[in-house]
Amino acid sequence: MIFRDAAYQQCIHPDCGAQFGIEQVVTGCNICGSLLDVKYDWNQAGTPTDWSYYQNKWGRRYAPLNFSGIWRFHELLPFATPEHVVTVGEGQTLLQQADFVSKYVGMDTGNLFLQYEGMNPSGSFKDNGMSAAFTHAHSVGAQRAACASTGNTSASLAMYCAVSQLMKAVIFIGSGKIAYGKLSQALEYGALTVQIAGDFDDAMKRVQEVCRELGIYLVNSINPFRLEGQKTIMFRVLEQLGWEVPDWIVVPGGNLGNSSSFGKAFIELKQLGLIDRVPRLAIINAAGADTLYELYENRGVRWNGGHIDRNVLQSYYDELDTSNKKASTIASAIEINRPVNFDKCLRALDFCDGVVRKATDQQILDAKAKVGIGGIGCEPASAASVAGAKMLREQGIIASSDRVVCILTGHQLKDPTATVAYHTTDQDKFNEVLGVRGVSRANFANRAVAVSNSLDEIIKAIKLYG
Ligand SMILES: *Cc1c(COP(=O)(O)O)cnc(C)c1O
Ligand SMILES: [Zn+2]
Repeated sequence: MIFRDAAYQQCIHPDCGAQFGIEQVVTGCNICGSLLDVKYDWNQAGTPTDWSYYQNKWGRRYAPLNFSGIWRFHELLPFATPEHVVTVGEGQTLLQQADFVSKYVGMDTGNLFLQYEGMNPSGSFKDNGMSAAFTHAHSVGAQRAACASTGNTSASLAMYCAVSQLMKAVIFIGSGKIAYGKLSQALEYGALTVQIAGDFDDAMKRVQEVCRELGIYLVNSINPFRLEGQKTIMFRVLEQLGWEVPDWIVVPGGNLGNSSSFGKAFIELKQLGLIDRVPRLAIINAAGADTLYELYENRGVRWNGGHIDRNVLQSYYDELDTSNKKASTIASAIEINRPVNFDKCLRALDFCDGVVRKATDQQILDAKAKVGIGGIGCEPASAASVAGAKMLREQGIIASSDRVVCILTGHQLKDPTATVAYHTTDQDKFNEVLGVRGVSRANFANRAVAVSNSLDEIIKAIKLYG
């Protein structure tokens, strides 16, 4: 099969719609400044419209492209020729029926599923998108790739550079919170790590300037190829449900790449006839970084066929500037006030009849504790999905009989500081130790039991607490 002749890039603005070749490196429309989509002529690509075609590849998983949870679906993102594909076996993830968490959320037994994207090689869902963007970067001959990151994007980029030895990684991080698990990966994988005095939103702005100036390939999710890889998270969710569409997908929202890519996945699957109905989408912001929530739920901003009310956006961002309001949450992966994929996310919310909610740090950490005690665990940002599902259940928007999939975006070991602090810190020191506000107590803390070094005392303690 010849890929990529059938693929092109297109501006998402309905009044512009400018097209760009698949080999062009343009992270935004250079005519109107809107975001770009990767688009396909499915007929020309010869994309099979029967799930069994994709399913059958698993039996031939000795071939690396069939083993990869991204490239097993190559025909659904046919922009790259196979010899350019860079894979490290990403996408071997699990959809786990989680009855313990289901009870916490208030669902009927058997109806809540956790999609463990932390099982990716660098420990977060970012590998889905990075494999795709890195493949595009490689196919256009890039020598260096860069990103701004709250941690996981940089860990992923650094890993792909290290494993493939095809490019040098340049990563931009802010001077605030970065979870140690993530920073340690970037450093160990040998990425050039630039720490700027500012937050993620500042780093995001700078990295775009630097990439333009120095001709470095940008791999943030503003890059439309990232989103192509992230579509496959939805393909694997469907695969693990026997190709049945769930009622809800619940996902944390930061830069809104994931939610945008899920929307695009469902738009395309519906077009291709691979699904006949679409799940509803719930995007969960952190309360301390709630731009999408504020604009969508309170100020009524909608996709509106691509004619988004820019005045409302502008006045909101002006307010942020005037009050010097910075994003602040324990869920550092979604500590973002200016999400780059905002427009595409509105399109996804429109197509999937979506809702947006915001979860406090208290709700996030309590949900994270429940995810951990009931299974494999996740990092704080990921637990926003479970906290959000619980909220929507309490509001009667999700029914207890609905089938709900919460996306756990990152691995539990990414941010051990938050976890250990939750379980060990005294209540009155909590906010100080975690560098947050508004967490009043660790409702599900599992405290270590201190005993003297004596067999009697140890046995007594085990009998008492066990
Ligand atoms: C990047 C990230 C997010 C946010 O995803 P977006 O696509 O930027 O909305 C959420 N959770 C984790 C663990 C992440 O690394
Ligand atoms: Zn345009």
